[in-house]
Amino acid sequence: MNLLTRIAMDLTDDMQMVPDRDVAEMTEWRWQLHRHPELSGQEVETANRVIAMLSPTQPDEILTGLGGHGVAAVYDSANAGTTLMLRCELDALPIQEISSRPYRSTVPGKAHLCGHDGHMAILATVARWLGRNRPRQGRVILMFQPAEEDGSGAAKVIADPRFAKIRPDVALALHNYPGLARGMAMLAEGPMNCASRGMKIILTGRTAHASQPEHGISPANALAELIPRLTALGTGGAVSDPDFSLVTITHASMGEQAFGIAPGEAQIWATLRTRQDSGMDRLVTEASRAVADAARESTLEFAISWHDVFQHCENDPEATEILRNALLAEDIAIRADGLPMRASEDFGRFGGGARAAMFLLGAGQDVASLHNPDYDFPDALIAPAARVFIRCVAQVTG
Ligand SMILES: [Zn+2]
Ligand SMILES: [Zn+2]
Repeated sequence: MNLLTRIAMDLTDDMQMVPDRDVAEMTEWRWQLHRHPELSGQEVETANRVIAMLSPTQPDEILTGLGGHGVAAVYDSANAGTTLMLRCELDALPIQEISSRPYRSTVPGKAHLCGHDGHMAILATVARWLGRNRPRQGRVILMFQPAEEDGSGAAKVIADPRFAKIRPDVALALHNYPGLARGMAMLAEGPMNCASRGMKIILTGRTAHASQPEHGISPANALAELIPRLTALGTGGAVSDPDFSLVTITHASMGEQAFGIAPGEAQIWATLRTRQDSGMDRLVTEASRAVADAARESTLEFAISWHDVFQHCENDPEATEILRNALLAEDIAIRADGLPMRASEDFGRFGGGARAAMFLLGAGQDVASLHNPDYDFPDALIAPAARVFIRCVAQVTG
């Protein structure tokens, strides 16, 4: 047994690691967060709730307004050592929740349907433990990151000048994962989440009277051609394939809802997805060329803009080992197949300056998928997930 594993095991008998009282209070707190969702970049009240929850644990410092509305609590041993960051997300989704639960969203059209409310409750539970157990060496940073859902938050946090003060050596995170049994995790070194980005295409011709379309320039043919042409550039398949790529048309529109006008403008929105960043460069080039060709054939102007840009997320071997030790010490079985996830995750940005890894924690097999209007984070995950993170803290800064 190596040193790190022994440190992890030393906590096994610590019945106070996550007291029942903390779990009960954090469950109620999650319900509060769930009732009051805020979208990416607008997490003002959520950040205030986080600050109010962290303050009694007396961190050495709380940084607010990081990269928008991010909050980071610093627990410093005052001794040299590793800086470990645990990260969760503040934001909810612009989707109407379908739920009869008493704590359902009170905000029309917005809801916590990715479980970020649960991730915050997990880190707040770790904060309680850190309030009672200071790190012996190095520092622990609890990072409540804004704007994960649109892919902008981690980059903005890192670009914030104050991030230099808390730059981590090791960064860890989790995501709850419907479809995977409770009590199981998915974790492996290497690619963890695919790269993705939104491509917005605007085709511009000239409107005309519907009786004289020859006096206008219609984008109809280009629109009709581009949908299958773009889709054919990324047809999915096994995500384990290094060349995996997927193009999903998410929106298309053209002209006015009128019978008297021949259309002069069309839009196509597509999401491009690849296993790794290198594949994305190629897909972007191919998709851009397809648009240029189709526009030229129809003598249209065109504009392409990029949105929600996610780099692929890569698990560092040493950081993965810390998570693996902690999961095994909690008797959580680990699957390494089925990765990377097709869905993207902006946590990968932290891997640019730190040894970073994240794992997926099973939310159960009979629950709705992430982003479905009836998804709800399972409260039963709060305690085991907090225990896993506490074991990581003990390994790195104990
Ligand atoms: Zn999400
Ligand atoms: Zn999420």
